[in-house]
Amino acid sequence: MDTRTGLPIVGMVGGGQLARMTHQAAIALGQSLHVLASSPDDGAALVAADVEIGSHTDIEALRQFAKACDVITFDHEHVPGDLIRALEADGVVVWPSSAALRIAQDKAAMRERLAELGAPMPRWRRVTTIDDVVAVAAETSWPVVLKATTGGYDGRGVWMVSSPVEAEAVMADVPSLIVEERVALRREVAALVARSPFGQVATYPIVETVQRDGICVEVIAPAPGLSADMALAAEELAIRIASELGVVGLLAVELFETADRFVVNELAMRPHNSGHWTIEGARTSQFEQHLRAVLDYPLGDTHITAPYVVMANILGGEPGGLKIDERIHHLMAAEPGVKIHMYGKAVRPGRKIGHVTALGDDLEATRASAARAAMWLQEGK
Ligand code: ADP
Repeated sequence: MDTRTGLPIVGMVGGGQLARMTHQAAIALGQSLHVLASSPDDGAALVAADVEIGSHTDIEALRQFAKACDVITFDHEHVPGDLIRALEADGVVVWPSSAALRIAQDKAAMRERLAELGAPMPRWRRVTTIDDVVAVAAETSWPVVLKATTGGYDGRGVWMVSSPVEAEAVMADVPSLIVEERVALRREVAALVARSPFGQVATYPIVETVQRDGICVEVIAPAPGLSADMALAAEELAIRIASELGVVGLLAVELFETADRFVVNELAMRPHNSGHWTIEGARTSQFEQHLRAVLDYPLGDTHITAPYVVMANILGGEPGGLKIDERIHHLMAAEPGVKIHMYGKAVRPGRKIGHVTALGDDLEATRASAARAAMWLQEGK
């Protein structure tokens, strides 16, 4: 409890853009997010008042941090499970729990658990020998997809391989892998659901996520052309997964849409890039919703606020061209309706350094507006 405000204190482990935007939502609720950041330069450490600097792999840093907080949650999936279990054993309230989070931290554990639930998935296996890879290729076809069971993000840790020789080259470098059929996907979509300890759930409209080189570049809400039946099926699947796994907070279910159904690609248990559009595009943003959920407050209304909402990520470009300040100036003049979110991160090529959101009545005009704005803010363009 914060004695200054009489309100509970949420502590977020990790100081990236998700913590930065969660802090914004916390401010509106009268709170101040406590952040365990690895460096004073982290996006959230630059803006939050209650920041501790320490490593998310150091149990003493985590214990010290947890002392001041009523509930601990995460901006990423990288806190080792045994450390989360140690906090839980100390009596710290941690959401999502170590048991739930394990399923989002390890792609093999995720596939095994989802198989138990009968969730639709690509054909897959754990890779012990090359025979496992060859078996999935024989059941489907080459190429197949190899994935590191832990540590991957933004397409790192994912390899399309076209032959046993290529697969063996990946296996030589990566100790723990799964192999999946390469899904003939029409597009990628995401289902976002929040769940509270009380068991209340709230889903957001299903969105389309557009990837380039393994990185999400655009999110369109609602997913264009999705039938009401398919949208409902995806929302129900997300609710079932959240409930069965006992997720508290946000759950993003990344899905592949095939000719006739969805298959689950992966899960994230935190605010997610596919939900950034909700800041302006939904009655309750995913960041506020995550806070409500981990505090066991009633969840907020998730209705969309415009016919179409499009989010585009701003990726770091090559140095050069106009300065960021000039870019923002021009963009504000050209696109007064577009909302800008910069994360305070150092620019590296391909790194997500911010996002923009456009709202509108016309899908193509809204997409064009968001894409133009993101391009404007990218260095070197
Ligand atoms: P990350 O953990 O890096 O986000 P993902 O498992 O989401 O990795 O994979 C990254 C991208 O690779 C996906 O967004 C998708 O475009 C592609 N991909 C992953 N798995 C498959 C698959 N089984 N079939 C086809 N494409 C895939």
